[in-house]
Amino acid sequence: MASSINLAKIEKRFGSVEVIHGIDLAIEPGEFTVFVGPSGCGKSTLLRMIAGLEDISAGELSIDGERVNEVPASKRGIAMVFQSYALYPHMNVYKNLAFGLQTAGYPKAEIEARVKKAADILQIGHLLQRRPKALSGGQRQRVAIGRAIVREPKIFLFDEPLSNLDAELRVQMRVEIAKLHQTLGSTMIYVTHDQVEAMTMADKIVVLRDGRIMQVGRPLDLYNNPANQFVAGFIGSPK
Ligand code: ADP
Ligand code: MG
Repeated sequence: MASSINLAKIEKRFGSVEVIHGIDLAIEPGEFTVFVGPSGCGKSTLLRMIAGLEDISAGELSIDGERVNEVPASKRGIAMVFQSYALYPHMNVYKNLAFGLQTAGYPKAEIEARVKKAADILQIGHLLQRRPKALSGGQRQRVAIGRAIVREPKIFLFDEPLSNLDAELRVQMRVEIAKLHQTLGSTMIYVTHDQVEAMTMADKIVVLRDGRIMQVGRPLDLYNNPANQFVAGFIGSPK
């Protein structure tokens, strides 16, 4: 199950300040798209508008060809993965995974089946009784991803999910997320300010600066043919 996403002239204003200026972007079903750009360029705001967590000031957002500007977050078929510290500390892993489904009123057997499936995919089946504080950083991140998987969304959104992990674990989790994309085939948007993550993970990179798209393309196209100095500097010189 994968969805297309289309942004047409999307704008965002906070009060009188415009932070997203007319974004046009087409995302194909099953694509792994990376939004990359410096801090404050509008990556999270754009992702939150797609998720339905932030109103869209102007323009049209469509999923599978249908306008969804007014569709509430819970009805968009989207799950968002946050950094692992968003886990519920007082609940064990099973409860963390099941909680959203319980709240939504799914039957117990369905919840158990979905949690088991997600735990299998992420290889955390042996950790279901543990609390988050008894898990390693990588295990916690898997649980955070598992909370999205159990919802069986058509679209996954990741907002800098690895930024509080150490370098070695980041590399490992990049591979895991790429595998997850292969396994599920879902449309995924991944936000990062890290050029290496963008270059290694993306089918398509969207380079943002000050609320505008600087360039869209495959990693190698951007690397070989940057549209301007900013893209050249950003993609060409990993920190
Ligand atoms: P990024 O995720 O790329 O670091 P953000 O999307 O968080 O950037 O922010 C983009 C711009 O919008 C920044 O200038 C930020 O200060 C501003 N901004 C974000 N959220 C709000 C808000 N709730 N109210 C006012 N300004 C905001
Ligand atoms: Mg952000």
